[in-house]
Amino acid sequence: MAVVAFAVSAAIVVLGVRQAMRDYALEEAREKAEIIAARNLAVHDYFTHELKPSVFPLSRGTQGDDYFDPRWMSSSYAVRGMQDYFNERFEGEDFYLKDAAINARSPRNEADAIEAAFLAEMNEAGQLLTRSGVREIDGKPFFYVMRDGERMIEECLVCHGDPADAPADLVASYGAERSFGRKVGDFSSVVSIRVPLADAYASADRTAGVLSGWLIAAMLVTFAGVTVYNRRAVVAPIKSVRDQARAIASDTEVVGAEVSITGAREIEQLGEAFNEMSHRLKQLVDSLEDRVAERTEDLEMTNEELMNQVAEREAAEDLLVKQAEELERYHFQLEELVEQRTKQLEEANEELLAATRAKDLFMANMSHELRTPLNSVIGFGDVLLSGLAGPLTEEQQRQIQMIRDSGRHLLELVDEVLDLSRIETGGDRIDVDTFDAAATIAKAVRSLEPAAENKGITLSYKLPDSVMMRSDERKLRQIVLNIVGNAVKFTDVGAVTVVGRVLRDDFVIAVSDTGPGISDAHIDDIFQVFWQFSGADRGKPRGAGLGLAIALRMAEVLGGTISVRSELGSGSTFEVVLPLAAPTDGTHPQE
Ligand code: ADP
Repeated sequence: MAVVAFAVSAAIVVLGVRQAMRDYALEEAREKAEIIAARNLAVHDYFTHELKPSVFPLSRGTQGDDYFDPRWMSSSYAVRGMQDYFNERFEGEDFYLKDAAINARSPRNEADAIEAAFLAEMNEAGQLLTRSGVREIDGKPFFYVMRDGERMIEECLVCHGDPADAPADLVASYGAERSFGRKVGDFSSVVSIRVPLADAYASADRTAGVLSGWLIAAMLVTFAGVTVYNRRAVVAPIKSVRDQARAIASDTEVVGAEVSITGAREIEQLGEAFNEMSHRLKQLVDSLEDRVAERTEDLEMTNEELMNQVAEREAAEDLLVKQAEELERYHFQLEELVEQRTKQLEEANEELLAATRAKDLFMANMSHELRTPLNSVIGFGDVLLSGLAGPLTEEQQRQIQMIRDSGRHLLELVDEVLDLSRIETGGDRIDVDTFDAAATIAKAVRSLEPAAENKGITLSYKLPDSVMMRSDERKLRQIVLNIVGNAVKFTDVGAVTVVGRVLRDDFVIAVSDTGPGISDAHIDDIFQVFWQFSGADRGKPRGAGLGLAIALRMAEVLGGTISVRSELGSGSTFEVVLPLAAPTDGTHPQE
């Protein structure tokens, strides 16, 4: 690369020198040509303005009109002669100097094609022109200059106008043709000078060749010197750095080793930098080893801990598998226990059912057995009170009245117990019939009017004209009597209202009162068998606590239900809902 650059620079220098020398030669040629041209013009001028004007008057007296001597009359002749002298002096130098004219008087002055073309151009333009440059003529380089030569003035026409006017000697020596017929103002000739360049160019080429030789020699010497220097001062130290770097890379033991190099300044600095790097690397390697040792120790400790944890976990898993077996055993025992208990419960349940049935049967029989003697007591009481069996004292009358009232109350209770037992034991049949439920309800409510009147409260009802029901009329009446009876019984001030309406397939009977109401705490208890509220404000119980229980069971037997809304202190509303057509399969829902 460097060689190529050097060679290219050398070539540029050589060519530049050669071109400069040629330019210099050219400039010299130009100057020479200028001098020659100026000299020629000077000759012409001298002839025209000095020689001829002063010699012509002298010759006119001594010579006839035909006299013509070119040696002092023709400046072109003079110039030609000087040219011959000149060429003799610079023999072999190919200088060319010519007053070139078209149809020149002497054939030696006849313009060649280039000069003729320039003359024609100048005459056409009507002004002076100059042309110069380098041109190859017959294979040789020349610097040429062409510029104006003679321009015809009046005096010139004597020899160049009409041949008849010209001196006879002139016509005799040159003929009547050549260089006649010129006009004033014509550019009749051109000064044409050619300076050979071949020698100057050859000299420039020679110089360039010598210079090239020297340059090549200098280049070779420099190149050899640089190569040797390069080997010693650059390549060898770099190789030693490279070898040391390779050694460090392949063996950590060598880290920290140094190189010792002398050479170029930058190379020595490279060596120093390398040594510094090697030292730093050594420090790093040492600290790395320490850290690796530390880390290894940490890892070993962690590993040990992990092993311990694994061992503990395995032990815990073993324990779990023990415990799991035990759990399974417990589970099995539990299942056995549950099975055993279930069996016991089933047995107890059956026993309970049998006992309940026996109790209900007993209750039914007992109630029945009680009715007959009770009816006798009540009947005899009525007879005694009517006075048919003889007059009674006031005290006797009061006592017997109490016996009869207690008997009636007892009979009511017995009837209720009997009703309930029948229902509970399933012995109560449904007597389905078609009847006007509105009329049945109205009649039942009216039967309670005396009791209401006694207490000073209002009892009213609002029912549709007729509601045909297919159900058990006796049970409906019983339900209405129990609920409306309670309302009258527990209401001391105000009114009891019965409202009936048909809602889709049901007959809904709402019984509202302005009685004491039922607290939220007891509202779920009132339908229980034998449940009575025994609060202080009530004082005495007025029934057996069976009325609502019987009413609810009867409603359910008829496919209906009873619900209650109440507010303590404001009154209660019992709502009985019964289907217009009772279920006819004779069964009723079991509790
Ligand atoms: P009892 O024979 O006591 O009337 P019931 O079963 O008919 O038995 O009623 C149970 C209890 O429900 C009654 O003791 C009473 O406390 C309460 N009760 C029923 N109806 C009413 C009502 N209209 N207003 C307030 N309390 C009532």
